[in-house]
Order: sequence, then C-alpha cells, then structure tokens
Amino acid sequence: MESVKIGKQKVTVHRYNTVIVGAGAAGMNAAVHLYEFFTQKGIADAQNRIAVVTAGVSLGASRMSGSDKQTYYKMGTSPDVPDSAEAFAKSITAAGCCHGDLALAEAIGSLREFYHLVEAGVPFPHDSMGSYIGYKTDNDPYERATSAGPKTSKLMSECLQRQVGRYGIRIYDNQEVAHLVTAGKRIIGVVTIDKKALSTKSFGINIFQCENLILAAGGPGELYKTSVYPKNQSGIHGLAFKAGLVAENLTESQFGLASTKFRWNVSGSYMQVIPRIFSTDANGGDEREFLADYFPSMSKMASNIFLKGYQWPFDPQRIENCQSSLIDILVFNETQNGRRVFMDFRKNPIGNSNMKSFAIEDLEGEALTYLRKTGAIQNKPIERLACMNQPAIDIYKEHKIDLWKEPLEIAVCAQHNNGGFAVNHWWESGIRRTFVVGEMAGTHSVKRPGGAALNSGQVGSLRAAEFIANVYGADMPSKNSAAKEIKAQVEGLIAGLDGFMESKGLKAKDVIDEIQYRMTASAGHIREINDARNALSQAVALVNRIKEEGIAIRSTKDIPAAIRAEHLALASVAYLKAIVTLLEQGSGSRGSHLVLSPDGVHIAGTEIRFKPENMELRNLILRIEYDPKQTDMFRCESVTPRTVPAERKAFEPAWKDYREGKIYE
Ligand SMILES: Cc1cc2nc3c(=O)[nH]c(=O)nc-3n(C[C@H](O)[C@H](O)[C@H](O)COP(=O)(O)OP(=O)(O)OC[C@H]3O[C@@H](n4cnc5c(N)ncnc54)[C@H](O)[C@@H]3O)c2cc1C
Repeated sequence: MESVKIGKQKVTVHRYNTVIVGAGAAGMNAAVHLYEFFTQKGIADAQNRIAVVTAGVSLGASRMSGSDKQTYYKMGTSPDVPDSAEAFAKSITAAGCCHGDLALAEAIGSLREFYHLVEAGVPFPHDSMGSYIGYKTDNDPYERATSAGPKTSKLMSECLQRQVGRYGIRIYDNQEVAHLVTAGKRIIGVVTIDKKALSTKSFGINIFQCENLILAAGGPGELYKTSVYPKNQSGIHGLAFKAGLVAENLTESQFGLASTKFRWNVSGSYMQVIPRIFSTDANGGDEREFLADYFPSMSKMASNIFLKGYQWPFDPQRIENCQSSLIDILVFNETQNGRRVFMDFRKNPIGNSNMKSFAIEDLEGEALTYLRKTGAIQNKPIERLACMNQPAIDIYKEHKIDLWKEPLEIAVCAQHNNGGFAVNHWWESGIRRTFVVGEMAGTHSVKRPGGAALNSGQVGSLRAAEFIANVYGADMPSKNSAAKEIKAQVEGLIAGLDGFMESKGLKAKDVIDEIQYRMTASAGHIREINDARNALSQAVALVNRIKEEGIAIRSTKDIPAAIRAEHLALASVAYLKAIVTLLEQGSGSRGSHLVLSPDGVHIAGTEIRFKPENMELRNLILRIEYDPKQTDMFRCESVTPRTVPAERKAFEPAWKDYREGKIYE
C-alpha cells in the first residue's frame, strides 16, 4: 500500500494478484477457493495476494434478502431418487436462451459446492442417516431444493466470511466502486471511494491494482422503485459496461410478490398456508376481496394461492384459466389503481356471494395432500404457518412485524436478474483475466429453478478461482505497469467529481427516483413496445443531461450517491435498450414478464391482452454492449446459445488432459 498525489487528491494504492469486488455469497466463496488453490500450489502467503473490496460487508442480496425458506438448488441428494448432471442441466436450460456449457458446469459443480458450504458450517438440514432432504421449488421437476431457513444466503456469506477471516484475507469495507481502470484490452484495477475517509477536502480515493479481477457486485437492485432487493444494492453494471464488458439476457428479470415495509419474498409457506389477500384504499379503509371476482370458486382461488408458494415468480404462462400468476396481475391492478394490498394470516380467504366459505377439505388435490402431509390443517393461516415454518414468522418479528397481530402489505416486486455479464464456462468474461460471478453474471435461462442463483454463484466462483490459480498464477502487479493509464483515468475521475462539486445541476436522489420510477413502470413485469421505446429515449436523455449539467454535490459525503446515480442511469439505458430490441424482434410474454398487445390473448375479467411467447427466440440470446457512438448508447446482437457439451472421455485420456493442464485450454 502506498500513497500518491493525483491532482489535488491524496490517493491510496493497493496491489493484489486478485481483487474481488463484492462480499456476498459469491464474492466470499471466490476468496476462499482462490486462497485454497494458491495454497495447494505452494504459495506461502496466498492471503496477501487476494483482497475483497465492497461497498458494505453487511449489504447486498446475500446478506439482506430471503424468503420463507430461502432455497439452494443442487443435484438430488435423496437416497431413492436418481439424478444426473445432464438432467439437472436440462432443467436449467428448459426455458431456452441459456448456454448449455454453463448449465452443465453448474450441475456438475453443484454437489461439490453444496458440501463445501456444509463444511463451512451452513446448517442445511439432514436426517439421522445423513441424507439432505429435498423439496420441490419453482420450475423444478424433481426435489432438488434445500434450505437452511429464511436466511440461507446470509448464513452462506457469513460462514464463508469466517473462513476468509481464518485465512487472513483482507476485506476492504465501505468502498464504493467509482471506476474500473482499463489498459489495452484488460481491466487492471478498481478505483473506489472510501466512504469512511471522506472529508472536506478528501474524496477518499483508493486504487486496487490487480492482475486478475473477479466481479461479484450482485444485481442492479436500485434500478427499480417497487423492489425486494435490499436498499442500496446498486451493483456496478454501468461501470462494467463502460469498461467493455458485454451482457446477455438483461431482459430476463424476475418479479414476484414480496412484502414492502420489510423487503422479503412471500413465497413458499407464506402462500401455502393460504392467507386472506385483500386490498384497501390508500388510507387503509374500504377493504375489498379483490381476487374473488376473477376465480370461479373458493376452492380454485384458495388452491391457486397455495400454488403461488412454489410457482412464486410472476409467470405469464400461468395466467390463463385462472392459474396462480393471475394473482400477481390482480395485485398489480389494485396497486396501479392507488390501492394497497395485504396478506392477512389471521383469516382464511374470503370469497364473494357466489362462493362457498373456505374449507381445507375443499382444496384441490395438490394443496390438500401437501397440507395434510405437513400437518398444517389448523383453522387459521397463522396457525398453519406456525406449524409448517415458525422461522418464517420469526423473521418478521425480528423486523417488528407481528403476523399474529397485523396484516402484511405486499406488491409485485423486482427480485432478481437472470441476465448479466457474459462469461465462458470458467466464468471468465470477454475481457481476459476479468471474471464475473454471482448475480452479476448472466448465466441463467429465461426461467430458472428457485435456488439456482445461489448454486450458480458458488459454482461460478469456484471455477473462476480454479482457472486463475492454474492458468494466470499468483504474481503481483508491478508498480510501474499501467501507471500512465491509472494516473490518467483517476485524473479524469477527479475532474468529474470536481465538476460535480461545482454543479448546480441534477440531484442524485432525483436522478435515482426518476430511474426507479421509469424502470418499474416500463421495464417491470408488464411491458409494451411503444411505452418501452419512450422510456428508452427518456433514459438516454437523462444520461445526456448528467453529462451536460453534472450531479450537484454539496459536500464530499454526497459523492457515493452521485456516482451511483451516474452509473445506474447508464445501466437503465442498457436494460431498456435490450427490452426494446427484444420487443422489436417480436418477442412475446416469457420468463417473468408479460407483453401487452391489442390483438393478444384476453385475460378474462380484465382489460389486459397479452402476446404469447415467440418460441423461435428460445434459440437466441440477446447480447448488449456499450457503444457511445450509437444514439441509444448501446449495440445489440443475437447469439446462439452454446450447447450442453456431450463429449465424454475415458478415464486415462481425461487424466492426461488434466495432468497437462489441457482442461483449461
Ligand atoms: C428477496 C430475495 C429472495 C431471494 N431468494 C433466493 C432464493 O431463494 N434462492 C436463490 O438462489 N436466490 C435467491 N435470491 C437471489 C440471491 O439471493 C442473489 O442472487 C444472491 O444472493 C446474489 O449474491 P451475490 O454474491 O452475487 O451478490 P450480493 O449478495 O448482492 O452481494 C453484492 C456485493 O457487492 C457489493 N456491491 C454492490 N454494489 C456495489 C458498488 N457499487 N460498489 C462496491 N460494492 C458494491 C455489495 O455491498 C455486496 O457486498 C433472492 C433475492 C432476493 C432479493
């Protein structure tokens, strides 16, 4: 570590072999594995060659998000149900637009990483014989899901962090990424603002120079107003685009029902216990059983509330004929009309005058069988929830919401991006030595089994670490390498921030509010081509206004928010450009979004007509790249998904390839 002066700023320079941006489950796992691989290769001071850099160790989706039993998807571990990596990859790629090599790697690596988490101390439950019991999750034909409770991802990142601590790897906390330093065709460093080092004069600039970079900064949660991502989870998509990374499947975000006061998914048991769902006016008066008019019977309505549990993400293919995603549509309609929607666990669903009263024994087969099997047949939903999953009640209690005493406000929220930055089967991006793991990587299909995000983050970080250790090695960057580029780019950053200090232009909060409002309205789970085009041109105009007017900051404390606003504005252009391009290709409703069309399929009882999925597009992945020369700032192309590798070698030749390092070629 050294201090240098660039412009008027004192800048701290750190040098590491590998810098990992992000301290969620994926970033922490990358650090652990890289240390282990380096050590196995005889590097005595591996801990001094790796650094984790994050805006907040306790921030991000892994630390702050979850559901009734947050799910980890892995290959089957049931003693009597056979499973295979190929079958797993088939489930991952089932909805199309997914690279087969990534799916197979995630399948093959899943048990290794699952047991790695078990060894790290994550309390995944097993029975007296040691078998890890599975259950069925969204888009999952088997019972591959497991869970360590509502806070699985928090437990994962905490256990891995303890390991990082034991290994002596340094975590730099409170570092807001401000710039990725490029030199030639590589990214050779990360510039951060140390939020604790900001003072009247100091911008708190740190430079982390590196030979290898692992980006694990999570999803772009701050893009949306109605969101269950934790607050301040902004990610670094805009900065990554500027540094030359290419993204795929950005159009494929996931949306679903979540509580809004405390941001938490109301999937699984919350729905399976079948609470009353009702709406009120803005002040909490005029209660209405708004679902009842759209379902033919209480049995159908209650059974679909149940099914929403493991058909959790909004799915336009589960709307017609009164299926479970009709509930998301109706909830959204209410909130669009200025009403508020609540789940009340103290009461069973209430119907209309044409419906019978709720009775467990009237439920359709799947719901009735499951509730009987779990013993959750008590009179009230809250009693059933207490029987089925007490921790799901406790988590709300921890956040001062007592489900025994009060209803829970919900909305259809942005939850996850299946897309992200493009990687190969070692999770290396198109830029050599820059790897992308976790939610920031675009590894998923249009739909994914619930829990596959956490598995992908673990497998991807393992593979990135293995590749770095075996191919690029543990060398440290030299002081003189790329000194010119670093100085010039940091000077550019400082000049930009000086400009912001003098700007009387936009306010960061207003910029972020504008982005969030637009993204929820036009890039959410309901999309329409003209509206999306309009939103794209407004998003482009915002980026141009930021360039012209700057973002006004009154003190250095405002710098992190200004930086976030600037790169989120660019990221929102990328997302909208991808959405418009896909709609212009004639895409229909797929994954977790519905496309409105005047001549589309009519949803009975509503004014909504939607265009069904265009199945031909399942064989294409939409890629997007920053190109400032384009009016819309980005360029798109469609690529064919890579297939699932089918080559199977005999042991001896495979062993030879392994010994000779050919597996990394
Ligand atoms: C409510 C909810 C429920 C979910 N349930 C499931 C589930 O059941 N199963 C499943 O598989 N997935 C689930 N997911 C998704 C899953 O939790 C995430 O995809 C996963 O935790 C992401 O891990 P990560 O390590 O990639 O990123 P994160 O855990 O989000 O970590 C990102 C890291 O980057 C840092 N960072 C972010 N922006 C910046 C910046 N600008 N500068 C510096 N650092 C930055 C953060 O501080 C953090 O350390 C859920 C998500 C949500 C929101």
